[in-house]
Amino acid sequence: MSRVFPRVLGRALPVAVSARGVWITDADGRRYLDGAGGAIVVNVGHGVASVIDAISEQLGRTQYVHPTVFTTEAVESYAGEVAAILPMEDARVFPVSGGSEAVETALKMARAYHLAKGQGGRSIVIGRRNSYHGNTLGALDVSGKAPLRKPYTPWLGRSLHVSAAYEFRCENPQHPHGCGAWQAAELDKMIASYGADTVAAFVAEPVAGATLGAAVPADDYWPAIAEVCRRHDVVLIADEVMTGFGRTGSWFGMDHWGVQPDILTAGKGTTSGYVPFGFAAASGRVHETIAGGPGFVHGFTWSHHALGAAAGLAVLRELKAGLVDRSREVGARLLDGLRTELADAPTVGDVRGLGLMIGIELVRDRETTEPYPRSAGVAERILQVARESGLLLYSSTGHVDGTNGDLVMLGPPFSISDDEAALLLERTTAAVRSVS
Ligand code: PMP
Repeated sequence: MSRVFPRVLGRALPVAVSARGVWITDADGRRYLDGAGGAIVVNVGHGVASVIDAISEQLGRTQYVHPTVFTTEAVESYAGEVAAILPMEDARVFPVSGGSEAVETALKMARAYHLAKGQGGRSIVIGRRNSYHGNTLGALDVSGKAPLRKPYTPWLGRSLHVSAAYEFRCENPQHPHGCGAWQAAELDKMIASYGADTVAAFVAEPVAGATLGAAVPADDYWPAIAEVCRRHDVVLIADEVMTGFGRTGSWFGMDHWGVQPDILTAGKGTTSGYVPFGFAAASGRVHETIAGGPGFVHGFTWSHHALGAAAGLAVLRELKAGLVDRSREVGARLLDGLRTELADAPTVGDVRGLGLMIGIELVRDRETTEPYPRSAGVAERILQVARESGLLLYSSTGHVDGTNGDLVMLGPPFSISDDEAALLLERTTAAVRSVS
C-alpha cells in the first residue's frame, strides 16, 4: 500500500521513470507524448542538459542560505536578466517557490503599496469569474472558479469578481463589438460602486488558462482595463504563471497588447518544472513606493532560493536561443491544423489560443453552444482515449455554469519537432473525434 496522500484520491498512477524532449516513459516502458507539458509547465522540454548542469553546479556552491542574511550570485543574476525582459519599467523580482506563493506575494505588494501611500482603506481585490490564481486561501479567494472554491467558502469571500474576457460565451449584449470596452466599463462601475478608496488591486491572466482553455480577450480589452486601473490607482496584477516565458508565442502574455502591469506573477515556465520556483515582480514605481513606506511584511523560508534562480537562468538562456519564436510558429500551425481537422467535428464548439497555449471547447450542440452534462465526462473520456494512444493532454471542467463545461488543453514543450507536432495533431484529433 502506498503511503502517499495523492493529488487525486483513488486513482492508480503509472510510475514515471525517465523523460526527454517531449516524451515521458513509465516503469512498464510505455512512452507518452507530453502534449500539455504536464499542466502547461514544461516549456523547454524534458532532460535539457544545460538546465540539469546549472542545477547541479549551483548545488555544489551553496545549498540553503537565509534570504534575510545573504543574497547569492544566482539570485542576483537571475533577477537582472529576467528584469530586462519583463513588460514593466525597472522591475524588481521577489523569487518564491510557485505560482500560488507568487500571487500571495503580489497581493501583499499591492497592499503595501497603498499603505505606503497612506491609503490604508484600500483592501478589496477584484478578480474575474471563472479564473484560477492558486490554491492558497488568498489566491483562491481571488480565483473565480466555483468548484474549487466550494469546499472552502466559509474561509473565502473578501474578493470581488467581474466577468471574464471569454469571447466564446461573451456576456456583452453587443458581442462581438466593443467587448473590451464593455468589460472595462463593468470593472469601472464595480470600483466606483465600492469607492476607489477601498479597492487595492485587479488580478487577471492576460490569456485565461486552465479555467477557460486559452480564452484570448478582444483586442481592446487590455488597454481599456489598464486605463481604468490607472485612473483609480488600482494596482494591476498580471498573473503570468501560465502565460509567461514564451507560452503564448511572445515572452509574456501582456506583450501582445503592449500593456505594462504594475505587478506580474510567474511560476510554471520559469524553470520549466525542473525545480519549484516562481516570482512576483513589481515595477520600479511600485517598488520605490513600498520602499518609502513602513516596509514589506512578508517572506517564506524558501523565497530567494538559489537553486530555482540557477534553473531559471538556464531556462531563460534556452528560451533565448529561439524557443519563443518556435512557440509562436508551431503554435500557429497547430491551431490552424486543429481548426481544419476538427472543423466538422460535431462536439467541437471552439478551438482557440495563442502560441503553444491552445484550448478546445466541447459542446453538445454547436448551434446553441449548450454544454454536455457533467455526468457524460466528455473531457475525461477524451483524455483517457488520448492516454491510451500515448498522448497526454490537460483538461478543465465546470466553466459554463459551475458544473457543466468541458475543455481540453494542449501546451507541449516548445522544443517539439515538426514530426512530433504532426503526431500531436493526429492523436488529439483522433481522441476528440472518438467521443460524441
Ligand atoms: N496562476 C495561474 C494562472 C495558474 O495557472 C496557476 C496554476 N495552474 C497558479 C496561479 C498557481 O500556481 P501553483 O500551482 O504553482 O501554485
